[in-house]
Amino acid sequence: MKKENKNYHMSADEFRKQGHAMVDWIAEYWSRVEEMPVLSQAEPNELFNALPNSAPEQSEDFTKIMQDVEKHIMPGITHWQSPNFFAYFPTGASGPSILGEMMSAGLGVQGMLWSTSPACTELEMKMMDWLVHLLGLPEHYLLENAGGGTLQDSASSACLVALLSAREKISNLSLNKLGGNTVSDKKLVAYISTQTHSSLEKAMMISGLVTQNLRKITVDTSYAMKVDRLKEQIAQDKADGYLPFFVCATIGTTSSNGMDNLIEIGEIAKTENLWMHVDAAMSVTAAVCPEFRDMHTGLDLADSYNFNPHKWLFTNFDCSALFVKDKSDIINSLSILPEYLKNAATESGAVIDYRDWQIPLGRRFRALKLWFTLRHYGVEGLRHHIREHIALAQEFASWVHASSDFEIVAPHPLNLVCFKHTAGDVVNEALVKKLNTSGDLYLTHTKLNGEYVIRLCVGQANTTREHVEKAWELIQASL
Ligand SMILES: *Cc1c(COP(=O)(O)O)cnc(C)c1O
Repeated sequence: MKKENKNYHMSADEFRKQGHAMVDWIAEYWSRVEEMPVLSQAEPNELFNALPNSAPEQSEDFTKIMQDVEKHIMPGITHWQSPNFFAYFPTGASGPSILGEMMSAGLGVQGMLWSTSPACTELEMKMMDWLVHLLGLPEHYLLENAGGGTLQDSASSACLVALLSAREKISNLSLNKLGGNTVSDKKLVAYISTQTHSSLEKAMMISGLVTQNLRKITVDTSYAMKVDRLKEQIAQDKADGYLPFFVCATIGTTSSNGMDNLIEIGEIAKTENLWMHVDAAMSVTAAVCPEFRDMHTGLDLADSYNFNPHKWLFTNFDCSALFVKDKSDIINSLSILPEYLKNAATESGAVIDYRDWQIPLGRRFRALKLWFTLRHYGVEGLRHHIREHIALAQEFASWVHASSDFEIVAPHPLNLVCFKHTAGDVVNEALVKKLNTSGDLYLTHTKLNGEYVIRLCVGQANTTREHVEKAWELIQASL
């Protein structure tokens, strides 16, 4: 008797049917998202306890799966794509980027080497050059020059890669200078400010450096690193026998949009032979508009730089751009070449293998969604929306400024406004809680100068003046 040839795969016809329905579902979601409570009102473990304890024995119908999405998944979604989302930072999800994501999944390529899909590598190379022009970055980041860019999963990975490259560089330098004596990792000291993103602290832990050797320099009243303090700390560390090797400056701190002085920090980095990394995760998207490019002044002094198209550049997570001034620094620190990965194209030096520019071996075809997004909007379209977001944040700040109950607590050059009610922490904390449980909008807080402060960040693609106005009304009415 012939054995039955079973096949459980989804047929092309079924995929086409469900795929069309999924696109409809997403478009429908976007049209109804504004009506939903922005912050998920789910109880802890609500979803976990509602689902069966193990995978089904028998194949299930996709329609049934989608019913469970409505029933179990949607209540546990915090709607980052709601125009009333003003929390943390935006996370892009434009139509063209989602279509790029879908195509990337459909092609299902793994771009670890040039040869495992030349288009995956070469489109990424081209997109990185496009970003250099789009943001007006220094020309040394263009691939035809000494530097170059790569897409990572997150700013956290980008910062880790920068730190590892810096560690490798200083180790090699001292190896040559000291005639064969390697510098002890225990002596290496890195500098950030008290406002630098926590990923730098994590990077220190992961890279095997001593976390106590991460110096957190205090900040001035605009939350920028105190450069004099940096200088003093470096002098102190040198006197104590340490080797300063790395400094991270931030353009737009996560907490308050603080802007470090790249020129002054860069001059110190040059004199003291430190690797300077610039973390610009959200804010530099504004540099697509020439009038906001001042924040890049001094960037030519940096060795590496990262920003996240997946925040404010209408590209869905994950898509984080990392640039290095000198490609050999990153490759020296992360290149490996076991026999099974050897291939003629790389060995000839004609192509890039991006696996040498990141921690994992495997990599997604991220460049597609960026290509689709940049082509769909065009530079003109990006500028239009970014300018609108900044103008809305500025208008909101003017309302806060004019109010006698609230006050602005930090400079707000772009799309983030930090403010507080004058009645103190307890009132501000209660206000945020009340607003967020109402579901009408979502705001988060930070602490500045030890005080509880409310953050309002404008950057969701569909946020208009009407939403910001409503937010301000609700903030005042919820006291
Ligand atoms: C958001 C943010 C990060 C972290 O970004 P991920 O991509 O989530 O790792 C790092 N630095 C700054 C300044 C940020 O705003």
